[in-house]
Amino acid sequence: MNKTDRTNYDVIIVGAGPSGIFCAYELITKNPSLKVLMLEKGNDIKNRICPKRKTGICVHCKPCNITTGFSGAGAFSDGKLTLAATETGGNLDKLIGEEKVKELIQKTDDIYLKFGADSYVYGLDKPNEIAAIRKKSEDAGLKLVESPIRHLGTEASYEIYSKFQDYLLSKGVEILFKTSVKDFLIRDGRAEGVICKNGQEFFARQIVVGAGREGASWFKAICEKHDINSKAGTVDIGVRVECPDKIMHELNEALYESKLILYTKNYNDKVRTFCQNPSGEVALENYHLPDGKEVTTVNGHAYKSKELKTDLTNFALLVSKNFTEPFKEPLEYGTIFARAANMLAGGSVLVQTYGDIKKHRRSTPERIKATGASPTCPDAVPGDLTLVLPKRIMDDIIEMIETMNKVVTGLAGDATLLYGIEVKFYSNMVLIDKKCETNIKGLFAIGDSSSWTRGLSMSSAMGLYIADILLDSEV
Ligand SMILES: Cc1cc2nc3c(=O)[nH]c(=O)nc-3n(C[C@H](O)[C@H](O)[C@H](O)COP(=O)(O)OP(=O)(O)OC[C@H]3O[C@@H](n4cnc5c(N)ncnc54)[C@H](O)[C@@H]3O)c2cc1C
Repeated sequence: MNKTDRTNYDVIIVGAGPSGIFCAYELITKNPSLKVLMLEKGNDIKNRICPKRKTGICVHCKPCNITTGFSGAGAFSDGKLTLAATETGGNLDKLIGEEKVKELIQKTDDIYLKFGADSYVYGLDKPNEIAAIRKKSEDAGLKLVESPIRHLGTEASYEIYSKFQDYLLSKGVEILFKTSVKDFLIRDGRAEGVICKNGQEFFARQIVVGAGREGASWFKAICEKHDINSKAGTVDIGVRVECPDKIMHELNEALYESKLILYTKNYNDKVRTFCQNPSGEVALENYHLPDGKEVTTVNGHAYKSKELKTDLTNFALLVSKNFTEPFKEPLEYGTIFARAANMLAGGSVLVQTYGDIKKHRRSTPERIKATGASPTCPDAVPGDLTLVLPKRIMDDIIEMIETMNKVVTGLAGDATLLYGIEVKFYSNMVLIDKKCETNIKGLFAIGDSSSWTRGLSMSSAMGLYIADILLDSEV
């Protein structure tokens, strides 16, 4: 790579999530003389402490320690590595081909193993049990997407990414924490550098943006400001479901994560299960939006060690919608419903029993207690999700629960909990070429904020991919 006079760095990476980390890893491992700078709005991984883990209550850190800091949303994630190349985890295969994605996912998996990931892979060694689940799913009208899963576990994810941070720093990658990028310096259609919120400016020939869901709204505003081509992608919106492990036992044991898809009878909408966490906990995520306001949504994770496990399984039920012209504000659409839930829940998220949904009434602490359910997320406020989600989405979710009940007997019981809302902020699709370059020369978009990925494996794989492009670059 050549440098101009103003260039201080070979590559600047905005965001130290898995996509950015794998990019930095590959760059510095293959060419140790490169000058690589990572700019991360959150904390060093060692200072990433979510107070809720001790207090049980979210104190709304700014920025949120669950979604920002070294390793991004990966640090306290459940750490499920989806080892299949297609159908889940994003659309990278549509950009660079399925074979290439397979190869990259294999490579990321090898790297995760090198940094300490558990060697066991779910979904490979129980063919008879999986065949029985597949048969029951097909009979119910559900498609079972099968994928091998490696489960890092929440506490192990943190350890593994801590080792990545040590490795990158030891190899000379500069990482500035608590440094939020505000804008890009663009001249004659080429990106030259970045301006941070604190006024610092940095220059490089190549700038890679891996800002994740936390940075998706910011990056969308940047796209609008600089005419970076992007379009509305899929909007995924729904709830997180929580029920006893014993109801989900068969799926948990054989697959760890069951990826089930239904096209609903009434609307032909796609509803899918996502991010299943056996013996896990429901978690909150706080996103700070460009307007300065915060929005709180739900997610889930599970610890690896037995002492930290609960006896409840959670998973997301997401309705995927693709809107047509003139719609162009997918992130804002999801935010409206998340904000409505926050409004009704006094700043938190809502929880409602499936029994109360069927009875068309709100949940209260007493009604939840009467069912015997005990939410793992004490922040969630009992209320009424049907006052938040559009009828069509609520109908889709109810149809999915009733259909899944044919595979997972008991799921449609009164004590099943629905938390809301869950929404995925990866729906501003940045239009990039096969080299992941935007229409601004030298500006590359990767990971969840590009909307081409939506999980750990694929965002990490995209980081490796862009690094090889940059290493090959003659610019
Ligand atoms: C609780 C939880 C559980 C999850 N469980 C799983 C799972 O089991 N399996 C799975 O595949 N996925 C899971 N995910 C999703 C997964 O973590 C993400 O898909 C993945 O981290 C995306 O990587 P990324 O690099 O694209 O973005 P991120 O990990 O979101 O990282 C982006 C980084 O960019 C930083 N940033 C944003 N804007 C700026 C800016 N302007 N300036 C500087 N820095 C900025 C952010 O602070 C963040 O650190 C989970 C997520 C959560 C929150």
